[in-house]
Amino acid sequence: CLMQTISAIDAAHELLKKKLQNALTIVDATAGNGNDTLFLAQNSLESAHIYAFDIQKSALERTAEIVELYRNKVQLILDSHVNVEKYVVTRIDVAMFNLGYLPGGDHAITTQAESTLEAVMKIIDCLATNGLLAITTYPGHEEGLLEYNQLVEYLRNLPMQEFTVACYSMLNHTIKAPVLYLIEKVRR
Ligand code: SAM
Repeated sequence: CLMQTISAIDAAHELLKKKLQNALTIVDATAGNGNDTLFLAQNSLESAHIYAFDIQKSALERTAEIVELYRNKVQLILDSHVNVEKYVVTRIDVAMFNLGYLPGGDHAITTQAESTLEAVMKIIDCLATNGLLAITTYPGHEEGLLEYNQLVEYLRNLPMQEFTVACYSMLNHTIKAPVLYLIEKVRR
């Protein structure tokens, strides 16, 4: 979307842009329709490598179509983000999760609290110093609320000497509005 808004996902993009300028290893943990993968590809170096995960073949096909121009630097992975370490063996500079289900797809195929938390922990463990992870959460649906609660509990307790965790939410909306978390590794 070319329109500038203050939605959680647009805020995520805006805040990742600067880090992307020097990022070499980039992870899109939930490729979906490919909009985030495309954003990551458009705003990163020619030499960057983007690992884009999804468990749905149709999602990756859609992503492949829209990132066609950038196919040299985008690796599409039909696997769960929980297996991230099987594919990404270097430190991660920028990563993002856009949780929930595929818009226009099967709402039953949604990210799950337990595997999301496991994948988030793995990615946080692999963040490069100054690396940044953005997670957009959707507490407005049942599994999303569970996922949100578990994530917040974990993120709240990350040691501040090593990480800064920021949160972006809609103050005048209901609990159902998406909430963005940003985790920056500030020290080794
Ligand atoms: N980033 C996408 C975009 O720009 O269109 C939107 C992502 S959509 C909200 C969430 C996606 O996560 C769905 O396509 C779903 O198939 C995927 N997903 C669910 N569980 C997953 C898992 N364990 N590993 C990787 N992807 C998963």
